[in-house]
Amino acid sequence: MRLTAIQKQYHQNADDIIRNHSKERKLLDKSRLAELRSSMKKSILGEKLLKWADNNDIKIVIDRKTEAGGYYQNGLKLIGIGTMPSAETLAHEITHAIQDEYGLLSSIDGTSVDELKKHTVQNYMVQTHFTEAAAFAVGKFVDKEVQQNIRILKKDADKLTNELKKGNKGFLISAIKFYFKHTVLNSRKHISSKEIKEDLKDRFINHFRNSYITRFYEDRHLKIFAKNIGIKDIKIPCGTFEYDMEDLKLPYKRGVNLNNKKSVLQIGNILDEFNFLDDLPENFNKSAKFRKFKTNLSLLNSNEPWTTENEIKNKLLFRQIKHLQKR
Ligand SMILES: [Zn+2]
Repeated sequence: MRLTAIQKQYHQNADDIIRNHSKERKLLDKSRLAELRSSMKKSILGEKLLKWADNNDIKIVIDRKTEAGGYYQNGLKLIGIGTMPSAETLAHEITHAIQDEYGLLSSIDGTSVDELKKHTVQNYMVQTHFTEAAAFAVGKFVDKEVQQNIRILKKDADKLTNELKKGNKGFLISAIKFYFKHTVLNSRKHISSKEIKEDLKDRFINHFRNSYITRFYEDRHLKIFAKNIGIKDIKIPCGTFEYDMEDLKLPYKRGVNLNNKKSVLQIGNILDEFNFLDDLPENFNKSAKFRKFKTNLSLLNSNEPWTTENEIKNKLLFRQIKHLQKR
């Protein structure tokens, strides 16, 4: 086991909670997780991610309290999946677990205010944009692969059913053989690394154009930062977890270094097989694209019109954080 004492404690706590679930729930969650695993294996990348998670002691549980599709508990090697499990969500969360392993996730939860002063709120939000963009890209790619392979499998199954309906006895034997040979795993379409890379890179870049999602995360991460620096009565969107432990003191983690190209490029590293960001320009951090990522922090840009009540509140929150950090 490569778990730290805190991680062990957290997993143990989850096991204790699960032990007290009703018999019905235990059975249902077990079958949901089994189904989810088999769905992941319909994607070749999904299967690799799952294998990585298993080899790295990532605990995967069903969480009935979360309002999110799923979450990765930063630093704790636990993935919670909501009541509508999908390969897309699991692949997204495993990507976060990998980012954690690579030291790309910054952790401010439960750290002291003094430690938090080392971190600017803008940096925290840019970091989370990058790591979310990568996780969304991987999740959506895996979903595409799963759907594609389900279609292939269905076509094969239809062909087989038709032949069986014709009642050809000689064919029956070969059909059965064909069926066993042609399991989900065998009929998956192989996608080249180059194709996956291109697909992920496009999804990564396009993520920053999705203002609905980027605003949601800006709002969420601003509030997480505010709460940790001691601003009271903050409700974090999607911040309820069934396996939560109060007063868990996690070490501060700096996360991806935005001023270091190597560190940023690590975000595109998928299981050391390929890197979907490796053809970003040399001076990427001065490029228009990178500046665009930064200006995507629309929430903090004072020249932006502030329209909704939430945005106005967030602007105040941002000022409050800045003020607290100066002290
Ligand atoms: Zn995420």
